[in-house]
Amino acid sequence: MSAAPAPALDVLNPATEEVLATVPAASAADVDAAVSRAARAQTTWAALAPADRARLLRRFAAAVDEHLEELARSEVREAGHTLGNARWEAGNVRDLLDYAAGGVERLTGRQIPVAGGLDVTFLEPLGVIGVIAPWNFPMPIAAWGTAPALAAGNAVLLKPAETTPLTALRLAELALEAGLPEGLFQVLPGHGPVTGNALVEHPGVAKIVFTGSTAVGRQVLAKGSALLKRVTLELGGKSPNIVFADADLRAAVDPFSFLDNAGQDCCARTRILVQESVYDEVAALLADALAAVVVGDPADEKTQMGPLISRRQLDRVRGYVPDDAPALRGSAPDGPGFWFPPTVLTGERPDSAAAREEIFGPVAVLLPFTDEQDAVRLANDTPYGLSGSVWTRDVGRALRVSRAVRAGNLSVNSHSSVRYSTPFGGFKQSGLGRELGPDALTAFTETKNVFLSTEA
Ligand code: NAD
Repeated sequence: MSAAPAPALDVLNPATEEVLATVPAASAADVDAAVSRAARAQTTWAALAPADRARLLRRFAAAVDEHLEELARSEVREAGHTLGNARWEAGNVRDLLDYAAGGVERLTGRQIPVAGGLDVTFLEPLGVIGVIAPWNFPMPIAAWGTAPALAAGNAVLLKPAETTPLTALRLAELALEAGLPEGLFQVLPGHGPVTGNALVEHPGVAKIVFTGSTAVGRQVLAKGSALLKRVTLELGGKSPNIVFADADLRAAVDPFSFLDNAGQDCCARTRILVQESVYDEVAALLADALAAVVVGDPADEKTQMGPLISRRQLDRVRGYVPDDAPALRGSAPDGPGFWFPPTVLTGERPDSAAAREEIFGPVAVLLPFTDEQDAVRLANDTPYGLSGSVWTRDVGRALRVSRAVRAGNLSVNSHSSVRYSTPFGGFKQSGLGRELGPDALTAFTETKNVFLSTEA
């Protein structure tokens, strides 16, 4: 008896709760058929001359650029991102494709002289790659895995999150229009435990690039490694923003360090650690800044913060912020839509749930520290290790603290974490492996060693 089809996905506009589209969900059988198509396309793709592969990827980048505004507005509608952020995200996809295209011809092996002959190494594609993406940055995160995997000669099956399949589906259409072989880049919308799991368990998928929660990431790693699949995990975060008394305080406590994307950002600086001598000054700056944040219709150019992605996410965030919790608060619209006001909790202990767990909403905690040692201790007092900022004018201290914080991406006097040309990934429970940067393509290859005898 065949299993009942999984329910289709209703895609909502999180700012209005209006249904934008209903998208069929891929079953395990659909995944199986997609893997076969992808494997066939991959053989053709890998056999192309590197210059031809690079040219087609550049055409794909150009198609994204041509449709940048359309893609951005689609992201605004389905994910609730502000227009400014969504334009940056579509631009990031274009830049990544261009950057990956530039890497195709640099993906070379080595010649190693050995006794009796010559050793030659080749960087060969892995085959079919499964990219499982979250809803918080649907377009860029899909591209982080997809662009270098394609550039290295692989095929990609992308499973977008249940709530945000639309921009991913559009990217697949643009890839075809740009001339990529049919089946090489397929998007499989569906439910995580069905479609995502089928990718993880499929023997024809060589590597899984998973971005999402730590809890699901653990399951993906366990199942994937049982089949000896390569697995990369980009997981949750609870990043510190360490502010010393000598810093430019206004820049250091820019509320968009944790409010961008309504706080649904794995790199959000949600633990604001402030030297105690400037705690009151920082609290006053934050109170003014939160009151000034424009929260509302994400399609309005003036809006600075949109809604949360879903009712489920709104309920989760509310669970961490009781109405009577001591806090600095901005304002947000009433429903319809999934709105939560910008909030900084001021009465939390460092070991409270709100101070240690990833809330994934527009909520930060403000905690005092005494000196450098205390700041590092507090910064490291979390299971996560994704990002963080250090604000000080003392260069030596900036470097000491950056080295001492156990996290993958630190910024000094900045809140920026992600650039397509630099490596990105987490320590501790924030992940496994790295994406982006100069080594991104090699992560989608196997090294083959060929010995040529000179003695025969
Ligand atoms: P999630 O773990 O619920 O889902 C992520 C993806 O996994 C979705 O596509 C989902 O359908 C799929 N999935 C769910 N169950 C699965 C299963 N059993 N097998 C295979 N796939 C399955 O995460 P989310 O709620 O969509 O995203 C938010 C999380 O993502 C946050 O924790 C955030 O920090 C994290 N995140 C991390 C990064 C990073 O780069 N480190 C970037 C963005 C988001």
